Amino acid sequence: MNLTANLKRVRDRMAHACMRAGRGRGDVTLIAVTKSVDAATTQAIIEAGVRHIAENRQQDADEKLPQVPALQHSKRPLLHFIGPLQRNKVKRVLARFDVIHSVDSLELAQEIGKRCAEIGREVGVFIEVNVASEAQKHGFDPGNTQDIRKVRDIKGVHVLGLMCMAPYSDNPEGARPYFKSLAELSRQWRESGVLPVTADHLSMGMSGDFEVAIEEGATHIRVGSALFD
Ligand SMILES: *Cc1c(COP(=O)(O)O)cnc(C)c1O
Repeated sequence: MNLTANLKRVRDRMAHACMRAGRGRGDVTLIAVTKSVDAATTQAIIEAGVRHIAENRQQDADEKLPQVPALQHSKRPLLHFIGPLQRNKVKRVLARFDVIHSVDSLELAQEIGKRCAEIGREVGVFIEVNVASEAQKHGFDPGNTQDIRKVRDIKGVHVLGLMCMAPYSDNPEGARPYFKSLAELSRQWRESGVLPVTADHLSMGMSGDFEVAIEEGATHIRVGSALFD
């Protein structure tokens, strides 16, 4: 693994996708998904210049992240939680993470609101949408605007935008319709007041398909293997 070369390649791919889409390079945030690497490699990617780190399991993160020196001071990178989140883990996740990408039910959002009230903070969240309506996937059904409105109104829960995971495909173009549909839902829901007008961020795109995601409007891409394999 050559981290510096991998990071440069990912950044070049991001820049080209932004150019094709007529977007500014500053419009897209790279989040390094460190779930598969150790504390030393997490430290190394931060030293290489990445300012956003994501983990998908609370327990693993609680073991590993305290061992990353670059995360122990006030100017540390932002920490994103991106995995399925059980309600009994919310308190622990809030103690460590700045942003939660995987708010997939009203009950979870209510628990986050309750815990935020206890500690007197607010947390930025993405609402996960099951864009392909896959039975085994997490997320709000795209038709469930009633519950999404309720999430919007929970105190302490600051909705930044929408998140999705595209169904598996061996071709990046396979994800395009799902990214397009998340961007379209975001537009409609902000226009009709389901979401605040400011909740215009889109967390979508991973190693295999982030260029397509950027072309379709991603503001946050979550990249693991392209950096760490
Ligand atoms: C692992 C993971 C990613 C990164 O996947 P890669 O294909 O390794 O880039 C992105 N999002 C979520 C939710 C993940 O769990």
